[in-house]
This record gives sequence, C-alpha cells and structure tokens, in this order.
Amino acid sequence: MDEVLEQLKDGVRRFRTEVYPQQADVFVQAVSEKQAPHTLFITCADSRVDPNLITSSGTGEVFVTRNIGNMVPAYGEMLGGVSAVVEFAVSALKVRHVVICGHTHCGAMQGLLAQAGLETMPTVKSWLKNAHAALSVAETLHKKDDAAAKRQLLEVLTEQNVLLQMQHLKTHPSVAGAMAQGELTVSGWIYNIGTGEVSVAEDGQQTFTPVGVSAPAGVA
Ligand SMILES: [Zn+2]
Repeated sequence: MDEVLEQLKDGVRRFRTEVYPQQADVFVQAVSEKQAPHTLFITCADSRVDPNLITSSGTGEVFVTRNIGNMVPAYGEMLGGVSAVVEFAVSALKVRHVVICGHTHCGAMQGLLAQAGLETMPTVKSWLKNAHAALSVAETLHKKDDAAAKRQLLEVLTEQNVLLQMQHLKTHPSVAGAMAQGELTVSGWIYNIGTGEVSVAEDGQQTFTPVGVSAPAGVA
C-alpha cells in the first residue's frame, strides 16, 4: 500500500464529507460563470506557504502560480510557464492586482547563498539565475548600508529578490500595458512562516511594512 497516496485519499474523503457539503453552493456558483479572480498571486512552491490561507481568500478569488523562489523571468528571457500565466491572468482574466510573495526560510534564497550545494541540481541552479541581480544588490547593501548590515544577508536577499521580480514582471507587455491604462497594480510581500506576519512593499517602495492586525481608520 502506498502510504502517502492513502493519506492523500483520506484528505479527499474528509473534503468530500466535511468541507464540500458546507460550501456546496459556493462551488456550484463558482462554475456557473467564468472565473474572475481579482489577483494573480505569484509565490514560492514551498509547502509551508498557502496563498489562500494567508489572504483569507475563497474559491475563485486568487489565481496562483508557484515556483522555486517566486521568480518571474524577465520577458523574453525564458518564455514558459510563468510568462504564460502572467499573460493569461492579465490579458484574459483581467486581474486587477499582482502579488509577488517571498517568504522566510526560503530554500531557493539559501541556495543562492550557498551555490556549491546546487551542483547536483543543474536545472535549479539555472533557474536561480533569475535572482542573481538580487544577490548582487543584497550583498552590496549588506556591506554598505547600516540598516541592512544589522540584518541577516538571507533576509535582505529575500526582500531584494521580491523587488527584482516586481521589476521583471513589468517587462511583460501585458503587465506594462495594463499598468499604463491604470487597470493593474502590483505589490511585493514577505510572509514570515513562523510568526504569520506579512509585510508589503507597495509599487515604488523599497522597504516592506508589516500589515497591521487591525484595519487602518476609515477602512471597513
Ligand atoms: Zn521559497
């Protein structure tokens, strides 16, 4: 018997018997019309990151793509899965916001800092080139910037990677066009797995601000 498969099947059974019946109308409604997610959420494949959980989003609200290190190759560099998702989400689904979400304890960022460990994984090593510019910026900041020097290089790199991927995102014609029309905004996030805290850099900001647990005045 395949223990892992059985564990997964048990999960399906719980979903069918406990979760689905309580929300059946939501699922039926969700397939009665085209999906219309408001957000494209690009994050790491890390098994501890759950976009719907941390944004309290339900079925149909968030279009998600995940890869190692929450990367978006610059347009034309590696036309593939991520580029296609971005184009489809922006041009066809007309999402109004794109989140690029990095996270603490990211193995991809650790891999960038210790590339010797990547020799047996040439594909991963090649993929991580999408973050080399962030590594360069993070190392410089860590040496020369007083505030950055007090923090761990991994932490600085994780933030710089999100900021870099936001730049890459804007090289995609669909994104640039929708932003020019005022129809799309972008933000960069860092999710702290251990504490649950999320910090956000809005477009144009270079620093990440924690999302407070009470809504700001004037926001319902
Ligand atoms: Zn990660």
